[in-house]
Amino acid sequence: MIFSMITGTATRRYEERSLLEFQKAFGEEEACLEHLQQMRWQDGFMCPRCGHDAAWLIRTRGVMDCKKCRAKTSVTAGTIFHKTRTPLLKWYWLIYRMATDKVGTSVAEMQRLLDIRDYKTAWMMAHKIRKAMADRDARYTLAGLVELDDSFFGPPGHTLGRGSERKSTVLCAVSLYTDAKGKRRPGFAHMRVVEDASARSIGAFLESLGCGVETEQGRQLLEAIQTDGWRSYRKAAEDKEIVHYRVVLRDASDAGRLLPWVHRVISNVKSVISGTHRGVSAKHLHSYMGEVCYRFNRRFWERQLFDRLIKACVSTPTVTYDQLVSRESL
Ligand SMILES: [Zn+2]
Repeated sequence: MIFSMITGTATRRYEERSLLEFQKAFGEEEACLEHLQQMRWQDGFMCPRCGHDAAWLIRTRGVMDCKKCRAKTSVTAGTIFHKTRTPLLKWYWLIYRMATDKVGTSVAEMQRLLDIRDYKTAWMMAHKIRKAMADRDARYTLAGLVELDDSFFGPPGHTLGRGSERKSTVLCAVSLYTDAKGKRRPGFAHMRVVEDASARSIGAFLESLGCGVETEQGRQLLEAIQTDGWRSYRKAAEDKEIVHYRVVLRDASDAGRLLPWVHRVISNVKSVISGTHRGVSAKHLHSYMGEVCYRFNRRFWERQLFDRLIKACVSTPTVTYDQLVSRESL
């Protein structure tokens, strides 16, 4: 079938899929296009020119053809699939793997498995998907108590620790909440590459997480931080007028036990980078951290992860190769 009628009815938001269900649903290019169309207009299609809610999906051209005014709306324009020459089927497999592989997806392996013509194309696709993940997570703020720590990423063999110049400094935050049984649980995670571990950098990071934002009840959204007590954290908490809890570390190995969640997220990023990607330049570090946080923040929706990531991919503009190689960060 070359085209099918689409009406403005809302579709189910996110399907749950196992690998077999994924394979069954997306065996052909047409199925991917139709799904992409549904995810893009989850609340039902509406013609951007006349507001009519019924259109034909012309599969050969990937456009919606308004039944009333005949305006053509591209399914992929304004998304990461804009002007792609790679079949959607290959995109779908890469997105499925990136959504579900906890240890990260090897781009070289996916290029080979999916017959993508060159490594650069596959590398770009993966970065576009990571950007969609990061854009989606940028909408999250952290509330209540937040576990906070710093870490260093870079080539092995150089000095470790605060003040190290050859490594990138990274801040990691995980919000905590208390469940019905009184047990402390992790909420959302965020990470960022910063210039240094100064109070100023920590303060700016806290602001980006929602520090300084007041709730409707007039309380601070981000109320307190829990850290190893490094003086910059103390100073940042003072500056931002939030509570600072210090956990007492007797030695470095205590950090994993006393600040467990930030340490779990940081070690996830380290294993993704060292295992799958064999090291990552400082420039792209943030996007690998974003990928790990994206999956961590959606760990309760594991079977919906594919649909959720497709939604992220159709909700964000694309990034070009020049932007990726020339800019410090995206
Ligand atoms: Zn129209």
